[in-house]
Amino acid sequence: MEPPGGPEKSTPILSPLINYLEGGVVLDRLGVWFHCGLNVFICRPCRVGLTSEVLKGHLKAQHKHAIAGKDWEDLQTFLCRVHVFGRPEDVPLPSPGGPAVQGLGAPEPGFACRMRGCAYAVKSEEVMKKHQCGEHGLVHPLEKRYSPCNLQALFNSVGKVFFQVLDGLVRDKDVALQHMALLDVGMSWNVDGTAVIATDKDRTPPALLRVTSWADYLPQVRASHGLRAKTLALKDRLKPDELGGILQGLAEAVNSLFRLGQTLLNGRSSKLTALKIIIHGANIPSAGATHWTPLPESNQNYSRFLTEMLTVILRSHLRASSKTTTTVAGFSFFLSTQQTSSLQVLAEALGRKERDGVLQHCQDFLWKVVSAKDRGDWTDVIQQWTWLKALRPDRNFYPASSFTPDLAKLKYMIRQTVLIQAFTEPLHDDEELIK
Ligand SMILES: [Zn+2]
Ligand SMILES: [Zn+2]
Repeated sequence: MEPPGGPEKSTPILSPLINYLEGGVVLDRLGVWFHCGLNVFICRPCRVGLTSEVLKGHLKAQHKHAIAGKDWEDLQTFLCRVHVFGRPEDVPLPSPGGPAVQGLGAPEPGFACRMRGCAYAVKSEEVMKKHQCGEHGLVHPLEKRYSPCNLQALFNSVGKVFFQVLDGLVRDKDVALQHMALLDVGMSWNVDGTAVIATDKDRTPPALLRVTSWADYLPQVRASHGLRAKTLALKDRLKPDELGGILQGLAEAVNSLFRLGQTLLNGRSSKLTALKIIIHGANIPSAGATHWTPLPESNQNYSRFLTEMLTVILRSHLRASSKTTTTVAGFSFFLSTQQTSSLQVLAEALGRKERDGVLQHCQDFLWKVVSAKDRGDWTDVIQQWTWLKALRPDRNFYPASSFTPDLAKLKYMIRQTVLIQAFTEPLHDDEELIK
């Protein structure tokens, strides 16, 4: 596996949503991870990067562990299969400002150079001043072009090189739900992905409304009988001939996504780790960590829920785009430009006779929904969907007891989307493999 961009030294851009750490039989025995975004090993106890050439020496010197026999053979097999950088100086550093690199020591405070095109970062302010003077000819203290930031170092050697990372450790990026702060109502998650509301007092609608702010969104639509009816009609049962029948193909694609989520990790050595990371992010507790459990195939409720969500979004999108005149302000999904074009591609694929690529385009759209940065002000698609899902004909919202199972489904959908994206992205161009 070559790093993206080929063998030349290109800067990898890491995503906070993807699990890059791979374990496996021999890697577990050696006590290292393979970081598949940076193509290096990471020593688990020391939390430092190791290239293939320094691995052996490090284990010997630091851990009194000589790689021999079967381990050596298995390691060679691994190295034949996977590209791992040989020398530390060949390893490109991750692009500055990305997420903290999983498996490495926690980010520490330091300084980053702000000169255009310069990624220099260092822990000592004095050293930074020297860099600015020597490299950029700046005169201190008149010209100060650096700022404090968080740093990580990939290697723990003389002349170690730092790179700038986002503040703090990798956050759990179930963004949309977190931003709604729903988990703060004392909600917790069972291993099987169902949600429980902890106490009875949290079941009261005011608590739910306080957290969701549903009542603040489009009050004029809720207040008007006509607009409300139009809005609720988006949730109507699907008619076979509706919109030329194109939405009929959605359920099948969604079912395929669920099957993919259920089987994707089978036979992978990193399966359990991956399932734990889906729940815990980079900070897996050492003991008793729960892991994500794909649903049994018999459970159709979750896929029906997702089909309904996509149906409603597509319906809203297609109705809005078929209109030639501007109509009264009502509810329609607000999507980003990227989400709109991704949805359009999905709609076109659904409209084709062979429905080729529907699965992939479905995943693409969901990924754009799940990975979108919440820019606030009800731009989050999942937030809009939960509002619509909860809206009742009498202009009120359904109670927390109805919301709980929906939330579990959303959470599952988000995790499944992340999982599929993380494990199929390198195969993106090869639809056969995804099938
Ligand atoms: Zn070590
Ligand atoms: Zn610089």
